Amino acid sequence: MKIIFLGPPGAGKGTYASRLTPILKLPHISSGNMVRDEIKAQTQLGNLMKKYSDKGKLGPDEIMIKILAKRLRKPDCKKGCILDGFPRTIKQAKALEKISKIDLVININVPDQIIITRLSNRLTCKKCGTIYNKLTLKPKKDNICDKCGGELYQREDDKPKVIQERLNVYRKKTEPLIEHYKKKNLLKDVSCNDLMIPPEVIVEKIKSIINSVQKSRS
Ligand code: ATP
Ligand code: MG
Repeated sequence: MKIIFLGPPGAGKGTYASRLTPILKLPHISSGNMVRDEIKAQTQLGNLMKKYSDKGKLGPDEIMIKILAKRLRKPDCKKGCILDGFPRTIKQAKALEKISKIDLVININVPDQIIITRLSNRLTCKKCGTIYNKLTLKPKKDNICDKCGGELYQREDDKPKVIQERLNVYRKKTEPLIEHYKKKNLLKDVSCNDLMIPPEVIVEKIKSIINSVQKSRS
C-alpha cells in the first residue's frame, strides 16, 4: 500500500509515520529527513537545499522529484511505503502519479496555534532524526536521544520567525493538494485539536482508517 501523509509542518507526519512503519512493515520515506541528511553530509545537493530549508522555503520541484523517484525505485518500496513530506506541490503530485499508484492520502488537520507551540518546542536528534518535544514528548535525559544517544538540537527552521513562513508556504503551495486528492477519492481526514493528545491515540485512528480502506478495496 502506498500512503501519503499530508498536513502542515508540525502536524505530526514524521512522528506518526515512524510509529506506523514497523506495524505496517512499510518503509517511512521522509523527504525532509533526506534533505537534512544531504545537508549534514555537506554534499552539493545539501548545500543547495540548505538555502531553501533554513528559510522555510520549498526546494525546487525538479530536484525533489528526482530524489524521490530514485528512492521509490529501491526494492524495499515494492510493497508500498509511507510518504511523509512529498508531494508538497501539485507539480510533485502529478510527477508522482507517473511513477507510482497512490492508494490512500491521510490528511492531518491541526490548528495553527498548536503547530506554532509544537514546532517552537520541538527537538530533533542530530544523529538519527528522532523527534522530541520540550512540553509533550520529553527525552529521558535532557538533550540526549533515547534511541541512539545522539545530541538533540533545535532545527534552524523551527525558530519562530521561520515557522510563520513555513505555514505561509504550506497554505499557498501544499494545501491545494487536499482538493486534488479529494477529487480522486483518496483523501481521509484525521484531526488533532489538542496539544496534549498522545501520539498513540492518533496512530490508532490512522491504523483504523488504513484497515477500513484495505477491507473496502479487497
Ligand atoms: P515537519 O518535519 O514538521 O513535517 P516540514 O514539513 O516543514 O516540517 P520537512 O518535511 O522536515 O519540513 O522538510 C524540511 C525542508 O526540506 C523543507 O522546508 C524544504 O525546504 C525541504 N523539502 C522537504 N520536502 C520537500 C518537498 N517535497 N518539496 C520541496 N522541498 C522540500
Ligand atoms: Mg517532517
